[in-house]
Amino acid sequence: MSRIADSEAPTAPNLQLYLPLPGHLEPPKGHSIPRKDRVFANRNLHLAEIDWVGFDMDYTLAIYEQHAMDTLSVRLTVERLIKRGYPERLKNLAFDTNFPIRGLLVDKDQGNILKLDRHKQVAKGFHGTRLLSQEEIDTLYHKNKLLYQTDRYHWIDTLFALCEVTSYASIVTALTDAGIEFDPRQLFVDVRTSIDEAHHDGSVYREVTQNLDRYLDRDPLLPATLHKLRSSGKKLFILTNSPWHYTNAIMSYLLEESGSRYPHWRNYFDIIICSAKKPLWFGDGTPFAERLPSLPPPDWGQVSEPGQTREVEGPLERGHVYEGGSLAEFEKRLGIGGHKVLYVGDHIYGDILRSKKDSTWRTALVIQELDREVEALKATVDLRARRRQLYELRPLYEDDLRYYQKLLKELPKDPENEHDRQKRAQIKAEIERQKLALAELEAEYTKVSKEHDRVFHEYFGPLLKEMNGLSVFGQQVETYADIYMRRVSSLNNYPPTQFFRSPHDLLPHEI
Ligand SMILES: [Mg+2]
Repeated sequence: MSRIADSEAPTAPNLQLYLPLPGHLEPPKGHSIPRKDRVFANRNLHLAEIDWVGFDMDYTLAIYEQHAMDTLSVRLTVERLIKRGYPERLKNLAFDTNFPIRGLLVDKDQGNILKLDRHKQVAKGFHGTRLLSQEEIDTLYHKNKLLYQTDRYHWIDTLFALCEVTSYASIVTALTDAGIEFDPRQLFVDVRTSIDEAHHDGSVYREVTQNLDRYLDRDPLLPATLHKLRSSGKKLFILTNSPWHYTNAIMSYLLEESGSRYPHWRNYFDIIICSAKKPLWFGDGTPFAERLPSLPPPDWGQVSEPGQTREVEGPLERGHVYEGGSLAEFEKRLGIGGHKVLYVGDHIYGDILRSKKDSTWRTALVIQELDREVEALKATVDLRARRRQLYELRPLYEDDLRYYQKLLKELPKDPENEHDRQKRAQIKAEIERQKLALAELEAEYTKVSKEHDRVFHEYFGPLLKEMNGLSVFGQQVETYADIYMRRVSSLNNYPPTQFFRSPHDLLPHEI
C-alpha cells in the first residue's frame, strides 16, 4: 500500500517519488524501542563520527545492587563511628537506604538534606529524616542567597555517596531524638572519614570481590554491546579511578563468559587506565605509569599498590595496563582529536562535567535510576494532566478575582445610595467566592503534586524534575550530558551509525 495518496504526490519536477516496499517490508511506525531502553539526546550526536568510546567502570559498566552496597557501606561506617566514640546503640538503628537520591545538597551546619530546583532554590528538605515545613525552609534558605558552593554545603552527586546521606540523616535524627548534643558538621566529617577509611583499608573491595553475585547486577547484554561498537571499527577504552586488581576482578565477572570470542575482558579494550584520579585527570593529572605484569594479588590493605609500575615513554598501547595520566597526554600519545571521543560515565561532576568543561569530548551519562523514573512517568500520566489543568486554571481564577477587586475599587462610595450599597455587597460576595475557589484550587494542586511526587520517590519526588521544572540534578544532566541512558547496553538498541537528535528548545514565547 502506498504511503502517499495520489492527491498528495509531489509535483515539483526534481522531486523523486517515494516508493515504499510493499506489505511486510514496510518499517514499523513509531518507536519500537521501549522507552526505558532508549538513549536520550540533549545535544545532537552522530555516532558514526565517533572513533573512540571510553568508559568509566563503577556504576557505568559495573552496575551495583544499590541496596546491598549501601547496607555494606552503612555497616562499615557505623562500626568506625562507634570506634570514634559515638554511642553503641547506632548499631541497632534502622537505616533506610531508600531515603536519599542523587543531586541532594547536605547542609552540614544544620544537619539538613535538601533538594534544589534548577534555580538553586530549596524545594524540599529534611532535618535528618524529619520533613522540614515550608516555614522552616523559608526561614533557613529563602531569606538570604544560598551559598551552596561554600564549605557549609556538600553535594551528593554519585550513587557511591548515597550511603553518606543514609547514615548521616538517620544518625542526626537518632541523636536529636535521644537529646544528645552533637555538632552536625563534625558528624558529617566523621561519616565521610569513616566511609573513606572503609575504602582505603580495603574493606569494601574485599567484601565486594568475595561476593560479586551479591553486589553486582551483571548485564548479559554488555559483552554484545561492546562487541557491536568494536565491530563497527570504534576503539574502546576504560578510564576508571578504581585500582587495577579491583578493576580486573569486576571486569572479569562482567565480561568473561564461556564460549566467548574474547578470551579475556581486556580483549574488548584498546586502552586500559586504572587509578586515573578523575577529575584531576581532566586537568593537570599525573604522569602515565604502566602496571607491570605478573603481579601477585593484593591483600587489599594497600589499595594504591605502590612500587608496581614504571614510567611510560612513547604512545599508549593495546594490551598494556596504565595508571594515572591526563587528558592532554592521552590525546597526544594516541594522536586523537577530542571531538572523536565519546566518554560514558555516571558521575555528573568527575566524569561528565569535567570532561565537558576541560575537553571537547562528547559525553554520555548512565542514569540507572531511569528505570524507576520512566515507570513512574507512565504511572502518573493522569495526575500530571490534572496538575497541568489546575496550573493553567490558576491565572484565569486570579484574573477573575482581580476583575472583581477592580470593580469594587471603582464603585462610587456613597453610603446613602442604596443601589451602590447593594452592588458593593454583591461584588464583595463574588470576591469571597473567587478567593475560596482559588484556595480550593491551590489545595488540590498541592495534593495532586504530592501524590505525583510520591510515585517517583517517597521522600524527594522525581530525580530529574522539581514541580514543573528541572531539579538541579536534571539541569546538570541537560547541560553536560550530550546523551543519557539507563545502561551502557541501551546503546545496543541502535546501529553504531545512529544519529541521536535532541528535541527542539522552546522558550516561553514559543509555546
Ligand atoms: Mg563511576
